[in-house]
Amino acid sequence: MSVDSPSSGGDHPSGGVACSLCGHRLGADGRFVGFYPASDRPAPSPAADDGLLAVCGDCAVEVDELVDAWAGHDAPPVADEWSIGAGYRRVAEDCSFCDRALDGDDVLGVEYFDREAAYGTGDGPRENFSLCDGCATVFEEFLDNVGGDGNV
Ligand SMILES: [Zn+2]
Ligand SMILES: [Zn+2]
Repeated sequence: MSVDSPSSGGDHPSGGVACSLCGHRLGADGRFVGFYPASDRPAPSPAADDGLLAVCGDCAVEVDELVDAWAGHDAPPVADEWSIGAGYRRVAEDCSFCDRALDGDDVLGVEYFDREAAYGTGDGPRENFSLCDGCATVFEEFLDNVGGDGNV
């Protein structure tokens, strides 16, 4: 018997990355979701401490369905003076989900990307979204329910 902690390790593309939602090993069709809060808002709880969420192919089907309805935007500007989350705050004017104008700093930058693209060898999807505080909460609740069926 071994006890795997879903939040440990995960830096090795060759294996050992478990889905953050259902715990299954990620295959070649795995995706990742990076969370970049613009404020002190924490990343959704299923994500690891570094804000990265691993999604296996099975769970990605559900995530794809939701994300398909979002309006993506350009990659955020990167600079030393501001955090990645603040970059999302700069590039996005409206919430990718509910389309309301973003005001204040309660914005959650979301990067949804393909495993191959993540390791620099592929040209899979790399999509960027920004969610308002309310939609970030909805997304977090959604993630809580993905991959939960029949698994402990
Ligand atoms: Zn999964
Ligand atoms: Zn919204």
